[in-house]
Formats: sequence, structure tokens, C-alpha cells
Amino acid sequence: MYDVIVLFDGYSENTEMGSCANCSCVLLKGKDNIIVDTLTPWDGEKLQQKLWNNDINCEDIKYVVCTHGHSDHTGCNYLFSNAKLIVGFSISSRDLYFDHDFAGGKPYIINEFVKVIPTPGHTLEDVSVIVETKDRGLVAITGDLFEKEQDLSDDSLWKSVGSGHDDMQQENRNKILKQVDWIVPGHGPMFKVPDHYK
Ligand SMILES: [Zn+2]
Repeated sequence: MYDVIVLFDGYSENTEMGSCANCSCVLLKGKDNIIVDTLTPWDGEKLQQKLWNNDINCEDIKYVVCTHGHSDHTGCNYLFSNAKLIVGFSISSRDLYFDHDFAGGKPYIINEFVKVIPTPGHTLEDVSVIVETKDRGLVAITGDLFEKEQDLSDDSLWKSVGSGHDDMQQENRNKILKQVDWIVPGHGPMFKVPDHYK
């Protein structure tokens, strides 16, 4: 079983200069240490410090999962030299790229507690991480499939930042809501899934 440690809560807001956003960054501490979404390239020092606070060095991370390829979700991948990278549908280690049929719906099993599943919609190659935890049941780290908790009642929050494949995204949102207890969305704090979705 795993501990889900949200290192940084994601956020997004509109400003006069444009939208200001960074992603939720999550440490999954357990059998294989995993980090999900790695902020922007300007966040390396603070990310490293946060990991040290949790008794983890960058070299201890076995997998880096980026829920999709946008720059605010992939920026510090360079810190994790011992990790296998899963960036959207692409799996690699150094210069080696592995075949995996995410496009055909196949989950990628990291171990008996953690899997990565295809959940396209925000981009056509989004993935989500599903993890069994010690104290919260099943948790999904979804990236921008969910923008923040408030988008459960206000569709415009996720539709306005998506790629226009709203039907596909809605379908994958429903699938996640049915199966998990908690969600870490791309740009807001972790929230509990309301019971009526079950
Ligand atoms: Zn994002």
C-alpha cells in the first residue's frame, strides 16, 4: 500500500497577463517511489527540498509519471536520473522507448498497488495514476482530466482549458468518479469523490 503525499497543490487563475498556473505535484511513497507531474523547469530547487523533507532523494524515484506533455507537468523530469518516464502515452528510459498500447486502452501496471491508465480528453494522450493507499482507499491522480474540485459543478472550468474533445473527457471523468474515493486534480487540492457518483 502507498502513502499519497501532495508535495504542491496545483492552482490556476486568470490574470491580466494571461493565465497563471502550476500543476499538482504528488509523491507516491511505497514499494516503488513514484512522482506524478513535475511542475515547471523553474521549480527544481523547491521540489528537491520538498522531497528531502519527506526523506526521499531524487535518485530514489523509480517512476516519473506526467499525466500529459504540457510544460507545467513535465518541467523537472530532468531531476530523476534513475526513473523510468511515462509522459502521457510515451514510456522511456534514457534513449530507449518502450511500446505500450495505451491508445488501445491497455493499463500500465507498475506493481500490485499502482497502475497508469489512459484517460484522454484534455489532450489526446492523457493518463491517470490509480493507487491503493493505506488511509484513503483508492486515489486517482488525474492531471487535467479534472481541473479542480469546483469543476464537478461547473463544466466550463475543465472545458475552457481542454483540447475540445469534451465527450471523450466527460466519459473518462465519469469512469474515474465511479471507481475511486479521492481525486488529485491537475490544478487544485485533493478532494473526496461525493458518494452519489458511485
Ligand atoms: Zn495543467
